[in-house]
This record gives sequence, structure tokens and C-alpha cells, in this order.
Amino acid sequence: MAQHVLMKLSNGGCSCCDPPSAPGIAIDGSVGRGGRNLPNDVRTIQAALNNVSSADGGPTLKLAVDGFVGPLTIAAIEKYQTRKLGWADGRIDPDGPTIHALNGQSSGVAAPAKGGAAPTPPPKATAEQNAKFVERIGALLPRARHWISMAQLNIDMASDFVRRGPPGRSDPFPSLHDIGKSQLGLFDKYFHTGKHSNETKLQQLHKAKRIYDSMNTVITHSLLEAPMFGWGVGYFQPDPADGTLAALNYVAYTFYGGWQARRPDGRPRLSGDDNYKGRKDLREDTIFFPVGQLLTKTDNYMLETILHELAHFVGPGVKSPDRIGDHTYDTKADFLTVNNWTALHTAECYGYFAAESALRSTITIPIH
Ligand SMILES: [Zn+2]
Repeated sequence: MAQHVLMKLSNGGCSCCDPPSAPGIAIDGSVGRGGRNLPNDVRTIQAALNNVSSADGGPTLKLAVDGFVGPLTIAAIEKYQTRKLGWADGRIDPDGPTIHALNGQSSGVAAPAKGGAAPTPPPKATAEQNAKFVERIGALLPRARHWISMAQLNIDMASDFVRRGPPGRSDPFPSLHDIGKSQLGLFDKYFHTGKHSNETKLQQLHKAKRIYDSMNTVITHSLLEAPMFGWGVGYFQPDPADGTLAALNYVAYTFYGGWQARRPDGRPRLSGDDNYKGRKDLREDTIFFPVGQLLTKTDNYMLETILHELAHFVGPGVKSPDRIGDHTYDTKADFLTVNNWTALHTAECYGYFAAESALRSTITIPIH
């Protein structure tokens, strides 16, 4: 289960599981080193780790499911993380990558749903539909640039407003003072920077702007290279798992920091380079779309999905705590209520802020 694979689910939520999981284990507080370690949560994790075979990252000796965190439980968490994520901090957070990994593992996508009905695979696109779809992405990219530009314009205006500070008595243009205020309000709606000092607000506005800058660079590359190599070269491709059970529920996926993922010899990194347990041959510098289930999606839906994936793609790599992830649950618009730090590290916030910036109307979730 590759935790650096980021999937956007069809209901508008997100998962960083591969394959996307059915509702699985959940904890209220973090478990492990420095965690809250609520006894029920600890038991949940101990039992979940015991379900993983030792060869697959589970504990060598089964843990006692006793609700107490000791060195054996922490060692088991670390072993699992090292095996599945390529790093270990000994702690499992309620919506962190480790619990997603455990859920991806404990509920195989091909397992029949409760009630016994076997799942049906999503529709599969024909070769012709794939080609048309990739052209459609190419045609959407200039509009994606427009969305990004409008997001950046709002960030610039909001930044100007913050820099201007409160109106002074000698302000020569008091009626112009509030220009940028509503743009800051929109930024706050998605990124929750409201209570911070002006200095912090400016830093956060700047950080978001840089993410959009990098998105623009990726789009520019694509637009410039398309006449030579055709749409979809490199960055946007049909998902090889299209039409199979493995493609149930997600609408796109990509890799943390995949944009700049290169092997030491300069060639693109492949999913196999990161101990990916599924397909080993997926280019990390690519955003994949299971075309069969996207044929009926609207342009706005596709644009938001493109920007969402680009946020993962241009952000830092999997090992950076600053990477842009999916800190949301699958079915709820949690990205509107998460805290400020989380929002700045959530792909959906970048997608929806740009959507509302460009469309200039309140956006329904998931977007249509
Ligand atoms: Zn995502």
C-alpha cells in the first residue's frame, strides 16, 4: 500500500490509501509515542497491527490487546511504518498516513461489501475515449490557469489589505481602505488564517501563492510541450487501472512532490522505487485519471480535480512534513473546518479556493 499515492475519491473527499478503503478502523486520539493513548484507541491499534502478518509489517509476536502503550506496541508501530511508509515516528494519528495504511490493508477493495453483493467494476473507457479525454484535459488547462490566476489575484489583494493595516486619520483615501478585505475573507474561508498576526497571515498568503505558482509552471510545461508530444505527455495520463475493481471510487491520483521526482540518473521515478506494493511501473511525475468514470463529469468538476491533484504534485515530497496531503475524511467537507495548519496542507483547500475565486460564487461540495 503506497502512502505516497494520493487519491481523490468520487464523492469529492479524499484518501491517501491505495486501494481506497471501505470504512475501517478509527481512533479518537493519537496512539504511540507522545500520543493521547486512550485505552480504547490503543486496543484498536493493537488489534489492527495483530491482523497484519509479520512479513507484511505486522508485529513479530502478537501484541497483547490490553490498551497499554509500552515498548512492544511502539516497536510494532515503528516496524509497520518503516515497512509501509518508509519512515517511522512510532505514533499513529487519527487521520494520518499510518491509519490510512492500516485501513487500506484491512479492507481489500475486492472484498464483497457487507450483505454479500460483490462490487461491480467502474466503467472502462475505450482507447478512443481515452484519447479524447486527454485532449479535453489539454483544452481545460488554459482555464485551469485562469482559476489559478484568480486565486493569486485574490491572494495579492488580500495581502495588500493586510499590509495596509487599520485606516489612519490621515488616510487620503479612506473609502478605498477596504479593498482586499473580502478577498482576505475568502482566503480565510478555506485556509482559516483569521486569528493570526498580520505577519503570519502574510506568510501564509505567500505560501499559498507559491503553491499556485508551481501549479502554473506545470501547466505551462504541459501547454508548451503538447504541440510536440501530444496532450498528456508526462503530467496527465489515463489510469492503467481504469475499468477494474482497483479503480473503484477514486477519480484521480498522483504522488507527493511527483512533479520533481527524479532518479539519481535523471530519469523519472517509478512507483516501484518507493516500495510500492501495487503496480511498480507508474511514473511519479504523472497525474492519473480513471477515464471511464470521468466521461460524464462537468468541466468545473474536472478543473477542481486537476488543481487538487496539482497541489499534491507540486508540494514537497512524501518525507517532508510540509507536504500537501488529504487531511479530510472521505465523505464530508471537513476541509472547511480543519485548523489553519491542516488547511494549508490540504489539497482540497487549494482546489476549492481557486474554484470560488474564478467562479465568483459559493461552491457546492462536491463541485459540479
Ligand atoms: Zn488528494
